[in-house]
Amino acid sequence: MGFAGNIVLVAMRDICASEELTTDYALFDDSDGTLECRCGTPSCRSTVSGRDWQRPDTQRKYGSYFSSCLLRRLSRKPGTGATPGESFPGRRLHACTREDGRRA
Ligand SMILES: [Zn+2]
Repeated sequence: MGFAGNIVLVAMRDICASEELTTDYALFDDSDGTLECRCGTPSCRSTVSGRDWQRPDTQRKYGSYFSSCLLRRLSRKPGTGATPGESFPGRRLHACTREDGRRA
């Protein structure tokens, strides 16, 4: 088995040079499994499910940032608002500050 594309990762907000990069399984996973998450972020779901892409809150949070295979499935579901190729409407700029106080 091989891949036929969709291996492009993109930042969903401005990031700092030294910032740890993470992703959410909800963006690409479609499986029966679950795992405990200890990321410690305020928005953590605590339990990550292979079906989290179906949750309305993750769909609102990630807009069109889902993997193309999940976007195709979401676009078939009325009212999800996830349309392949559409820019993410909730995109925000994030001000990063280095240790010396200057903007990164
Ligand atoms: Zn988490």
